[in-house]
Amino acid sequence: MNKAIYNFGPGPAMLYPEVLRAVREELLDFRGYGASVMEMSHRGAEFMEVAKTAEADLRELMRIPADYKVLFLQGGATGQCAAAPMNLLRGKTSADYVNTGYWSQRAIAEASKYCEVNIAASSEHKNFSYAPAQSEWRLKKDAAYVHYVPNETIGGVEFQWVPDTGSVPLVADMSSNILSREIDVSRFGVIYAGAQKNIGPAGVTVVIVREDLTGDALKRTPAIFDYALQAKNDSMFNTPPTFAVYCAGLTFKCLKKLGGVKEVEKHNIAKAKLLYDFLDSSAFYRTPVEKRDRSRMNVPFFLRDERLNDEFLEHANERGLLHLKGHRVLGGMRASIYNAMPGEGVAALVDFMREFETRHG
Ligand code: PMP
Repeated sequence: MNKAIYNFGPGPAMLYPEVLRAVREELLDFRGYGASVMEMSHRGAEFMEVAKTAEADLRELMRIPADYKVLFLQGGATGQCAAAPMNLLRGKTSADYVNTGYWSQRAIAEASKYCEVNIAASSEHKNFSYAPAQSEWRLKKDAAYVHYVPNETIGGVEFQWVPDTGSVPLVADMSSNILSREIDVSRFGVIYAGAQKNIGPAGVTVVIVREDLTGDALKRTPAIFDYALQAKNDSMFNTPPTFAVYCAGLTFKCLKKLGGVKEVEKHNIAKAKLLYDFLDSSAFYRTPVEKRDRSRMNVPFFLRDERLNDEFLEHANERGLLHLKGHRVLGGMRASIYNAMPGEGVAALVDFMREFETRHG
């Protein structure tokens, strides 16, 4: 019998087995086309249908209002850290950024090349262990937009609420929690996300942008990052990442079959609770994030005796619990438990952690 393998890597992360099976099934002959989806023209009827269906399914899953454009771009979330200011400054010279950790800082560094960045709130003084409450935010009236990272993938801090920025557009890097919980898209000006966690393989970046915010990009904006231009061309101003879009479409179908984001969210709440309840019950492990801001997707934790780290990882690997090593900036461990991680995977991790504690505690 095959041993169950659970991949807790932060991304590119595990995909639903159904998605991988469908890819395998169709790899050599895409639905009778006689060639792989990788080998077909992005302008042909077959691929156009793939892209159109992926967009329609994503719109349905996230209940995206009609006045929002959905783009499938390249360049990752990192590309969007630059595209956001280039498209959204629209004659203004500054933007507000909330600094909750590594990915906020990356966005801030990139935006600083294009505009003045006002740090509206920061949790740096507490080692990025919490999400600053709205009352701590100091927003500037003349800011072009407000940017934040709803889920810090490395720090494991997740906003359980959507900020209110009034008439100033809210921009969110949702790379690591998109489609994991229900959100009201109409609260956002722009949502962007690299695909490689909850959507599909690396290579496609989803951008959801309110239409009225497009059309006034900086003149020096690269064409591929110009929201209006890409929207006008159905994200095909140049060759899109066809295979990644196809896989994303398979994930969207799979999510719909599972009952949509509402059902998936319930599942995610239960998985996260299982792991955090165990961490809270143990004196052997600790997790650094304020309880109310704990991420449902990325769970960083430390062994109190860090000398046991290597042994922990080695034994976890032997048990088929892979990629638990924390990011180099934080150290310790991190379990990424995105949508596709089954409850059994989290249960297996908790069983292993309990046994490891009994052996060494
Ligand atoms: N933002 C967040 C929240 C992320 O988790 C990541 C990747 N881990 C990035 C941005 C960077 O994404 P990419 O590698 O697709 O540019």
